Parts: sequence; C-alpha cells; structure tokens
Amino acid sequence: MAQTMLSARIHEYQRPLVVEPVKMPSPRGEGIIVKVGGAGLCHSDLHLMNGEWKEAIPLALPKIPGHEVAGWVEEIGDSVPKGMFERGDLVAVFGGWGCGSCQICKRGDEQMCPIAKWPGLSQYDGGYSQYIAVPSYRFLIKVAAGTRLKPEELAPLTDAGLTPYRAIRRFRHMLVPGTTIAVVGIGGLGSYGIQYARMLAPNSTTIAIDRNDKKLEFARKLGADHAIRLSGSTRKEVKEITQGRGVDVIVDCVGAENTISVSVGLLSKGGVLAVVGLFGAQVCVPLMPTVINEYQITGSLWGNYNELCEVIELARQGKVKHTIQTFSLEDINDAINLLKSGQITGRAVITPN
Ligand SMILES: [Zn+2]
Ligand SMILES: [Zn+2]
Repeated sequence: MAQTMLSARIHEYQRPLVVEPVKMPSPRGEGIIVKVGGAGLCHSDLHLMNGEWKEAIPLALPKIPGHEVAGWVEEIGDSVPKGMFERGDLVAVFGGWGCGSCQICKRGDEQMCPIAKWPGLSQYDGGYSQYIAVPSYRFLIKVAAGTRLKPEELAPLTDAGLTPYRAIRRFRHMLVPGTTIAVVGIGGLGSYGIQYARMLAPNSTTIAIDRNDKKLEFARKLGADHAIRLSGSTRKEVKEITQGRGVDVIVDCVGAENTISVSVGLLSKGGVLAVVGLFGAQVCVPLMPTVINEYQITGSLWGNYNELCEVIELARQGKVKHTIQTFSLEDINDAINLLKSGQITGRAVITPN
C-alpha cells in the first residue's frame, strides 16, 4: 500500500486549503480505514476555515476538514469483530463519534455525547482526502450490496440529508392534515428538508422560503406546494396561504438573525421553530408573542445513528432525490468559492478517488 495519500488541509485560517501528500493512516484497534468515495462540502467548513470557530473548536493545524463522508472499507483494525466488515464494503460514516457508554449515547443520541468528536472538526482528520481513519467500526453503516447508491450520493446524507430529517421527524406528530410546514433556506440541507416534509407530513402544506429565485424554483421541483421569497411581504403571503393560521413547524436551515426573526413572525399558535443552521450568533425573539402564543423554539443537532440508517433506507428505496455537483480533490478550492458565492445547487461533493 502507498505510504502517502493526497489530502486537502487547512494550514492557516482564511487561506485556501493546501492539496498535498500526507502520511497514510493505519487502522488501530477497532478502527477502520475508509477509502473516500465522496465527501460533501458543508457551510460549516466555511465557518471553520474562516477561523470563526477557533475558540469553540480549537484545532491543531494542519487539519483535513470534511465531515460528510462515504466510501469503501480499505483496512480493518485487529479488534474489529471478525466478519462484520470486509474490504470493499460500501459504507457511510456516521459523524457524531460519541463515547458509546454514557446515558446520552445509550439512548441513541451519540451526536450529543458530551465528549463527541467529529471528523475534521476535532483531533480527527476528515474526508477531504483519499483515505480517512475512522476510530471505531461502530461509526460505519454498511450499505447493502447490490444498491445503486453511489458514495457521492451517500456522503451528503450523513449531514445535509440527516439534519433536517431529525428536525422534521421530531415534530411530525404535529403535522396532521390541515397543518403547514415551512423550510427556510433551500441550500444543501433545505433541498432534503423539502423532500422529508413531503414524505413525513404528506397531508400538510409545504412552503419553501429563500432569498434566491433559482432556489425557490428548485424547491418547487422537489415538491414544495408554495415557494416564497424571504422579504418584507413573506408574512403576508404565509398568512394568505395558511388562511391566517400561520405555520405549525418551521425548520430554519440558515439560522441567521434575520431568518429567525422572520420565522418567528410566521408561527401558528403553539408552533415550533427548529433551528438547524448556524449562521448567526444569537436567537432573539419578541417576548410577548412568544409567551401568549406558546411558541416552541428549539435547536436540533445533526441526527443520530438510527436516523441515518432510516435516511439511507429511504435513499435505497429511491425516495430521495440527490442533487450533487462533484469536484476532484485538486479542485476543492473552486468548489469552496462556488459555495461561498451561493452558486451550488444542492450539495458540492469532493470525489478524491
Ligand atoms: Zn455540516
Ligand atoms: Zn457518550
């Protein structure tokens, strides 16, 4: 096996990634080396590369980012139970690497483990590389042989395709016939969010909200009943669509201060605003309407292992539409610039092999 692999690394914040050969990892204990078939490019990577999170997530540079990863099993550590994985198995990498033994992990929410680590967002390197060292086989989901799913389609499902799924799944009991769900921000996450809204709440009205007309057009193609511009008249339009009732569940995939304040103004009595995007710094909501209308404002973090299994199963059944643009590892900085300027429809995925 080669001694080095090609990787894209952060050497300095606010600088392009450096694509260079680095030492090939070897599997330790229960770890597995995965040959990367696809690694999705997330807005979180832009925040990370920009140095915005250097206090919250202190990294030893250079660091390989990339936390949406799928590929094939390459090398298997000595302590992995025999027969669980074979070289060449198609796998998706679950990103929330919890301890596995605390109460939160045991209840199934490893992504919320107090000591959870993320590939590319911790001491562990991520997927913008030919290979990634996954510290435990527990974080891999084997995709059944014979599937038509490609790793570049699987990779975004581990974050962009998972985060809105959890958010909508948590509140789908509220989405009875006659109710409305809105997805704010039709980027990587929102384009999956619209699809899950249709799947998990088939008798509710689905509204897509974005600033960009092209993305609204895209949301209509994905099944949104209404697609409206984020503007001064959003509230009026939503009131008309919902006959004055407001929106029962809003998933904000942007999380900017303005999207949150617009969203709160759209809620129905008892409505839920689930924020999954991380653009802003504060959630500011007006007190009086929040109290008298019993608004529920919540965050929702990524998704858990079982939810990822469900998402992959929906994709395996052909129910998820993948909109991806692939880029070679050498072109990763071009992909980053396109994402920054809002020119990616769906998800940009790096294919290093
Ligand atoms: Zn992400
Ligand atoms: Zn834990």
